[in-house]
Amino acid sequence: MADNAHDSSVNPHICTSRTCGCLAGEISGQSDRTAMSRRSWLAWAGVGAVGAAAAGTAMFNPSDVFAGGDQRPSTPEEALAKLEEGNARFIAGKTLEPNRDLARLKEVAPRQAPFAAFLGCADSRVPIEIIFDQGFGDLFVTRIAGNVADPAIIGSLEFGCLVLGAKVLYVLGHSNCGAVAATIKGDAVPGQISTLYQHLRPAAKAAKGDLDAAIRDNVRIQAGILSEASPVLAELIKAGKLKVTGGVYDLATGKVTTVAM
Ligand SMILES: [Zn+2]
Repeated sequence: MADNAHDSSVNPHICTSRTCGCLAGEISGQSDRTAMSRRSWLAWAGVGAVGAAAAGTAMFNPSDVFAGGDQRPSTPEEALAKLEEGNARFIAGKTLEPNRDLARLKEVAPRQAPFAAFLGCADSRVPIEIIFDQGFGDLFVTRIAGNVADPAIIGSLEFGCLVLGAKVLYVLGHSNCGAVAATIKGDAVPGQISTLYQHLRPAAKAAKGDLDAAIRDNVRIQAGILSEASPVLAELIKAGKLKVTGGVYDLATGKVTTVAM
């Protein structure tokens, strides 16, 4: 152990040291199993106690407040409300463009604590920080054509939620999604593009050719996969520390409409 400030044999859930590898200060009240998961994560990622301190990846207590007065949501409900407010500003043309200056850049350079994690489509018209009116360090974003939860995406989102402490995991589909449309058509495509089909076929099949319905179904299906296929995420959900939800972004209006799960 790199930091003697913490002795996990005494109490594995009380540690406020930012240089300790135990991460217990971030997950007070969580099970030992999850704490172990986090340690394993860091070890796997090559950012154990010393490495993480150097890399600045996980030694930050998400409940802390940034020096600049960051109002980070402390619950999934607050996080969701902050996203909804940001999208409302965006579609009203009244964006605040928060946390986008050089001061914020420097503030989050050594540490990050995004309040929400995203699975979105790679489509160039769906830039997630912009449509939710957020800035540096606010959102942990994964994007892949068709917003599908493949193993690498699930692993990335586990990192964003378990290690970095995101309160909401949001699956964001969008209107006129080419990946979903291509899956419905089922045409032959070059290279490895067709590897996406396997993830999108359940939604395409259920919607019976209706693109908008398939896009909504796909959000539900991917959110379900994230909620149920990952024990790491399932434990956070069970503990009330994470909410998985989703919506569809309208390319023409900018509005995000929640999809009933
Ligand atoms: Zn798309």
